[in-house]
This record gives sequence, C-alpha cells and structure tokens, in this order.
Amino acid sequence: MSDVGYSALDAAGLNLRAVFDLDALPGTMRAMLDPQGRYCRLLLVGHGGRRLWECVTAAGLAGEHPIDDFVRVTLADWVAAQLPGVAYAMPYPGNVPVGLQALGRLAGWHHDSPFRVGINADWGSWFAYRAVLLVDAELPVTPSAHGDSPCAACAGKPCIAACPAGALDDGEFSLEKCTAYRRLPDSQCRVTCIARTSCPVRPEHRYDDAQIAHSYSRSLAMIEAISGSDR
Ligand code: SF4
Ligand code: SF4
Repeated sequence: MSDVGYSALDAAGLNLRAVFDLDALPGTMRAMLDPQGRYCRLLLVGHGGRRLWECVTAAGLAGEHPIDDFVRVTLADWVAAQLPGVAYAMPYPGNVPVGLQALGRLAGWHHDSPFRVGINADWGSWFAYRAVLLVDAELPVTPSAHGDSPCAACAGKPCIAACPAGALDDGEFSLEKCTAYRRLPDSQCRVTCIARTSCPVRPEHRYDDAQIAHSYSRSLAMIEAISGSDR
C-alpha cells in the first residue's frame, strides 16, 4: 500500500492528510467511528489555504453544502483510483459525531487559538478538517508532527484586542459574547471573524473573502436557528 498516491488530492486542494492506525486511537474514538472493527486505517483529510475553494467554485456546485459535496465526490474518485475494491466509509462529512479537533491534535495540526479556531505554524488558522475516511487497507501511518503553537510566541496577541465583542478578553473564549455580537444587525462579524483576520500568522494562506463569507454566514445561520431568530 506504500504506492498509494495523493497528487489528485493535492490538486483538488485537499492538501492535508494524516493516516492513523485505528487500533492506536483512543478506544472510545474507535468504538464511535468503527463499532464493528471493519477497518484498519483512518485518513484525516484537511485543506490548507485557498486551493480547495478555487476548485469548489470552478466546479460550480450550487447546493447548500458545496464544499462537502465536492469533497465527497473527490474522495470517492480518489479511492476508486488508488484503492480499487477496498472497503471504505466516510463518517465525515456526515452525521457520525467525529472529534475532529481531537484528531487534529493527534496529527499535530491543531493548537487552540484565543478565538477557538485551530492554528499551527504552517497554515496559521487558515486550514480546516474536510473528511474522515475509514479504509480496509494498511496505508502507511503518518508520523505525528508536533510543533509549537504560534500563539506561544505571539507578542501582544492582537486577535484579543481586535474582537469587537470583547469575547476573548478574559483568557477564555466567551461563546455567549461572540454569538450575541454576531447577531447584531450592524455587527462587523456577520460574515467574518475580525479576531481571526487580525492574526498575523501565515497571511499568505488567508482564505478568499468569498470563502470566509461562505463559512461565517453558515455559522451565523446556525446561531440564528438555535436562537429562534430569523433576523
Ligand atoms: S494573533 Fe497571536 S495569539 Fe492570536 S491567534 Fe494569532 S498567533 Fe495566536
Ligand atoms: S466572530 Fe467576531 S465576536 Fe466572535 S470571536 Fe471573532 S471577532 Fe470576536
């Protein structure tokens, strides 16, 4: 299985991958994801930077979840080409609860930022988890890359002062302050996070404004649905 190639995923912007031995994952995680023990590897797939969004928009997908739709099709094509006949499952995107940040920590991708989005030295906060694939194939396991959090050496931590809601002020993220502010009609954060865009780490990977707006308009819609408001 060492001859499996990932160039098609790179070309599609799915440029972050980590392969885990399912037997080496915490037992609760394995039981949740693969209760029947059918698979031997977990492939965590993410994107860093702008390429994925460029591919999604070029594909012209018009559904409610164009990134997820693109990722599902791209990964199904990749499995068919690289792992023909191999049984697989894709718990995410989907309805199975998956501890994405926990997997990201294990992969060395995720450090907590003050505004709750993960951050690392390679991509800043401009990366995201896109899929979890379980495969019945002994893909080579990825060595974990445990770098330091960029926040540890960040002078002044400008993201904290940049948040117009003061949601990062107390050393702990206040979801309540953030969501209350985001729902205001004149909020600066209806389709972005000012704290995130103020972070100086890896600005070259910052998402296109349309991608930021897509992502944050979805999270705002969820906040408003939960709050019972269509404002
Ligand atoms: S501005 Fe500094 S503290 Fe804030 S997320 Fe970026 S690196 Fe971390
Ligand atoms: S979305 Fe706005 S209110 Fe929420 S943490 Fe980011 S900057 Fe603060």
